[in-house]
Amino acid sequence: MLTWTDPLSYVHGLTPQQRRVLKKLDVETVSELLSILPRRYDDYSNIFPIVNIPIGESVTIKCRIKDLKKLPTFRKRFVIIRGVVEDDTGSIVITWFNQPWMLQQLKIGDEIFVSGTVRQHPKFGRGFTSPIWEPATEETLAAGNIAPVYPLMGQVTQKTLRKIMKIVLDDLDEILDPLPKGLVRSAHQPDFFEAIKFVHKPEIIEHTETGRQRFVFNEVLLYQLAMRMAKNLADQGGAPKIKFDENFAKKFTKGLPFELTPDQKRAVWAAAQDMEKEKPMRRLVQGDVGSGKTVVAAFCVALVHRAGFSAALMAPTEILAKQHAITLQRFLGAYHIPVLLMTSSTRILFENGEETKLKLSEAKQRLKQGRVVAVGTHALIQPEQCPPDLGLAVVDEQHRFGVAQREALTVIQRPDSLVPHLLSMTATPIPRSLALTFLGDLDVSIIKTKPAGRKPIKTNLLVGDSGRKMAYQAIRNAIIRKEQAFIVCPLIDPSDKLGMRSVEEEKKRLSFGELRGLKLSTLHGKMGAAEKDVAMNEFKDGKADVLIATTVVEVGVDIPNATIMCIESAERFGLAQLHQLRGRIGRSDKDCSCFLIATDDSVALNRLRVLEQTNDGFIIAEEDLKIRGQGNVLGLQQSGKSPFKYLRPADDLQIMKLGRDLALELMEKDPELASVPILRDMANEIRQTAHGE
Ligand code: ADP
Ligand code: MG
Repeated sequence: MLTWTDPLSYVHGLTPQQRRVLKKLDVETVSELLSILPRRYDDYSNIFPIVNIPIGESVTIKCRIKDLKKLPTFRKRFVIIRGVVEDDTGSIVITWFNQPWMLQQLKIGDEIFVSGTVRQHPKFGRGFTSPIWEPATEETLAAGNIAPVYPLMGQVTQKTLRKIMKIVLDDLDEILDPLPKGLVRSAHQPDFFEAIKFVHKPEIIEHTETGRQRFVFNEVLLYQLAMRMAKNLADQGGAPKIKFDENFAKKFTKGLPFELTPDQKRAVWAAAQDMEKEKPMRRLVQGDVGSGKTVVAAFCVALVHRAGFSAALMAPTEILAKQHAITLQRFLGAYHIPVLLMTSSTRILFENGEETKLKLSEAKQRLKQGRVVAVGTHALIQPEQCPPDLGLAVVDEQHRFGVAQREALTVIQRPDSLVPHLLSMTATPIPRSLALTFLGDLDVSIIKTKPAGRKPIKTNLLVGDSGRKMAYQAIRNAIIRKEQAFIVCPLIDPSDKLGMRSVEEEKKRLSFGELRGLKLSTLHGKMGAAEKDVAMNEFKDGKADVLIATTVVEVGVDIPNATIMCIESAERFGLAQLHQLRGRIGRSDKDCSCFLIATDDSVALNRLRVLEQTNDGFIIAEEDLKIRGQGNVLGLQQSGKSPFKYLRPADDLQIMKLGRDLALELMEKDPELASVPILRDMANEIRQTAHGE
């Protein structure tokens, strides 16, 4: 009998070929194999008679092959195989394009299951096109009537994977549940062994979801435990106490070029209070684009310096790091606070009104001296260059939710093992429902109100060349008012990809065409750091009228004089991303317009309408969640190292809440998790993986 931790080499009945393939896919143990959950299920227990098949719905039929042949085509290397299948109620056509092997795999008289969607084809009539099929053998019938459909990996076919799963499941010994029985029962969850059978060998279709949810429950619970353990650990490390200097705070507030909004004040005040404690702050500032998060960071950094410590500000791109260094020294310079910009290409010290370029060794030396504000990309904080007196680390524009989460788990340790305070700033509002369950112990400040005098950005969704005309006219008008404009294209170089526009091509086209006479400049990821600098500075200083760019301008860039944003191939972007891009404008009291140019007039455009209707990032985030459903809204998927393999945030709210409540309860009773060592070890592993990258 097999156990959960056995290597697959213990499995009898796997061919050497199957074993090799699995090994290539890094599937080497029973647990790794059984953790691959089906994407969906084909329900052979619900077979449609051919005469009743509804058009446009996914169905399964059981049928006999009546006719099968290759149709003549005019195009070379284009193969059409046409079959006719029948059951007792009628017959229907199946068409396979470019699958010549079908002629070898099937023959007249064969009994098969066919799963797919029936459509009305203009030429062939009602029928399936390239459906999934499976021989109706003893084995498929005996395997139960619900067949799991696995995500296909590498060269493993669906059939092989099902076979392997069956071999392993048939030989599997009862698995010990990693969670305590009482806990599982109080959460109304099935036993883990049962859940495994539910997902891989379901007897009724309802069980499949029950089983999947148990997998979700495991990961949510473990993640919550990992987060809380990280927090406990950080708390134990202790943090530098940042004494709040009220007089200085008042002076700083007065010295700002504008009055702080109530939300900004609240955020600063909350952080100041957190930092006075000897437990490290873990605070997330959620503020919509343009709500003014940078000044909150600047204020906190100033307080930390005042109290005698260093601070670090980290941004996702070099462009943004540079912008922040300049902004910070504008806010902080008057108080003689040194700002050190540190990126892979430049190291500049701003001190006492002077800018000095430093060598790498000099910069590191300066960091070692302490009482400095370091600004850089996320690579800034490495143990060997962490200022020994680091009091606060600020991480800006962490709009990938998963990443923000992992940061919360991360503990930056100073040489003396004190843990600095952490302030994370994100412009992607996390839907309330999700925030509640996910953020766990993270404290959150929300900056909702925008600085006074801001007018809402007018957004127009337009199609093709006629739409563009309107946008270009608006750009020309803005330039006459001495304002500036962004044009965002999805590509850098010309390409024939579905008519998508590229930065270089557009510049050429527009400088001879609709925007002739204007100063156009470009910005994209293939440019070197120095080139990017020049382009950015030119635009900032008003030497260019229009900046044609890729999405490198997506995060953070703050140029209040830009009032028009024109986004090409808007349908290619997610709602949250478009909202970010749009947030590059609307940063002053001027009227601003955003033009979303879509390639064609497809229904897919409807999802973009919400951007016309609202500028509220929270509403847009909820909408994005509804439309795209899965965790990709939150960047869980993209980040690649998501701790959530099974979770579907939109569907699994209940389970998420449950996992959170139970984790809380467990940790309160037993903070070290001494009574549940398996659980403790698993949570520890998650915490360390999150930390280790
Ligand atoms: P984000 O939250 O997107 O990072 P920024 O911090 O870049 O926004 O701020 C956007 C713009 O608003 C900046 O030009 C900043 O100087 C300005 N700003 C910030 N706070 C205020 C305020 N309270 N009143 C007026 N302008 C402000
Ligand atoms: Mg910002």
